[in-house]
Amino acid sequence: MILHYTAMALTRHGDLRQDPDWLRAQLASDRSRVLPLRADRNLFHADRQPPEAARIPIDDAALMLANAREVIYLGHEAGRALFAADLDDIDELRAEELVDRAAPGSRFLDLRRIGTLLSPAEGSLAAYARAMTAWHRNNGFCARCGQPTTAMRGGHMRRCDGCGREHFPRIDPAVIMLVELADPPDGIPRCLLGRHPGLPGRIYSTLAGYVDPGETLEQAVAREVREEAGIGVTDIRYVASQPWPFPGSLMLGFRARSRDQEPDFAADELEDARWFTADEIRAFGEFGDDRGANHELPRGDSIARLLIAQWLTEQG
Ligand SMILES: [Zn+2]
Repeated sequence: MILHYTAMALTRHGDLRQDPDWLRAQLASDRSRVLPLRADRNLFHADRQPPEAARIPIDDAALMLANAREVIYLGHEAGRALFAADLDDIDELRAEELVDRAAPGSRFLDLRRIGTLLSPAEGSLAAYARAMTAWHRNNGFCARCGQPTTAMRGGHMRRCDGCGREHFPRIDPAVIMLVELADPPDGIPRCLLGRHPGLPGRIYSTLAGYVDPGETLEQAVAREVREEAGIGVTDIRYVASQPWPFPGSLMLGFRARSRDQEPDFAADELEDARWFTADEIRAFGEFGDDRGANHELPRGDSIARLLIAQWLTEQG
């Protein structure tokens, strides 16, 4: 199983993008391409199989660039510079008219809805562009003095116009963990899944939560499981990480084991938390398909799904 949003194919040129002259040359090059976004939606050629992000030649994107809220250098792809352009300040109909002329048949679509349909590289690129535009939109003012901020370094920094403080793209680390029952009394392996009231449908998923300041990742895993399910864990082991651009998290996936057989879930955080056997999880429905299942698996593009799939594979 692939882990979505982890296959970025761009060369980011973190050094070159700090040079305004170099950036100007990229924006003037007819090899460069523009990826428009609007209201957290990326522009896709949804009629292609699989769908692809629209890459508009720079000459056809002049009006978009001139009216964009932000233009962000993403990186180089096969010798071409790619820029994200946030068209949030342009009226919706006008924005659609502009992109339709430059990329006929393309549509603004929410990555949350089509993420699982994309190739790994396209999903990763769309996730990156979405996370960057969301960060700019939410950081127009300095958190220290309240004055407006201005984007610099190709959109990888914002500097406060008032106090000069430099602000960098923010990522919120969150731990997510699959907990196994150590030494189950009947010998049948089980893992812990919970029903979070914020999740749609009847999804049962691995527990997760944001890392607190002053906390290691392992401490965050143990605290979240204790707070949400009322059990202790041991043998905490890192598995994988995943950018999760809704809007700016980095999911850090772990495995852990627990000897506590009775979860005591916190009603304000979870509606339910239970040990499930592999056979029980294999009978879960896919979210959104109408098979009348009492339990549904988490989204196919999530690291929760990967952690569960890996555990199921191990059970044979
Ligand atoms: Zn400031």
